[in-house]
Amino acid sequence: MKILITGGAGFIGSNLVEKLLADNQIYVVDNLSTGTYENLKEFENNENFKFYNMDITNNKIISFIRENSFDIIYNFACPASPQYYLEFPIETWESSVLGVRNLLKAIEGTKVKLFHSSTSEVYGDALENPQTEDYWGNVNSIGVRACYDEGKRAAEALIYDYIRKYDVDVRVARIFNTYGPKMRKEDGRIISNFVNQALFNENITIYGEGKQTRSFCYIDDTLDFILKLMSFDKKIPFPINVGNPVEISVLDVANIIKNTVNTKSSIVFMDAMKDDPQKRKPNINKAKEILNWEPKIDFNIGLEKTIKYFAGRK
Ligand code: UDP
Repeated sequence: MKILITGGAGFIGSNLVEKLLADNQIYVVDNLSTGTYENLKEFENNENFKFYNMDITNNKIISFIRENSFDIIYNFACPASPQYYLEFPIETWESSVLGVRNLLKAIEGTKVKLFHSSTSEVYGDALENPQTEDYWGNVNSIGVRACYDEGKRAAEALIYDYIRKYDVDVRVARIFNTYGPKMRKEDGRIISNFVNQALFNENITIYGEGKQTRSFCYIDDTLDFILKLMSFDKKIPFPINVGNPVEISVLDVANIIKNTVNTKSSIVFMDAMKDDPQKRKPNINKAKEILNWEPKIDFNIGLEKTIKYFAGRK
């Protein structure tokens, strides 16, 4: 198949390239704003791989897609860690809304299948735990995270309007916290921060008291879901949660990483982040029922692989 991966230099995108490259022709589009070409360097001599430094918010992406007649497009193009979207709020809005509008325009009237990466952030600081897909969320629409949360919510709104109006085949995953090799060391996320802090014997920085929770899905499980979603034989006109429902507090994550790395680091408590969601855990019944998917990789196993990746780059 001929496949386009937008945002393919980022964490999930570049892992997907690796997974699909053996049997497909892979085109990657990325503006390298938060993704890094380093994630793709190992593929550059592969004849099935092509890289384009382009921005999906530029209208040129529409003719690029139309001229290339792709079978599937996977869209990951958007700053995706809190540190990055706090630093690039306008770009986050633009890629979420204008970028997705361009992709939808490009596939309108065609049979191209589009995967769109939405996020658990559409639930905001959720008042229900776990979060099911029919929970409408609790988002501060003018807060510092709104560029991402509302951007991704607007993208979903746009997608379902295109589905209702033009019957396009777009499949949306609401991705909960995912981790693994090829995350950027500097992306500010909990796993990359804590693992690198532990490896370098630096303080492990907890924002707030560490009582807030997350649920961590290893990259291989997330990719397995994405491929199942796209190979399902019917259109799926609603979003599906993907994540690992084992819920862990931030303080427990710090302690687990501290003990696994066997570091001299101390745990320190810093100011809490604004609008930081306090509880996050996916309800994955839909993924189980429709796609027969559930995560298989235990947090300790995934963590060991992630630690090994970062240790190798020290
Ligand atoms: N966090 C933390 N210290 C760090 C990085 C993150 O305490 O150095 C916390 C953050 O406040 C949040 C959780 O870990 O409660 C997950 O943060 P992350 O940036 O990985 O992504 P999020 O789940 O908020 O999108």
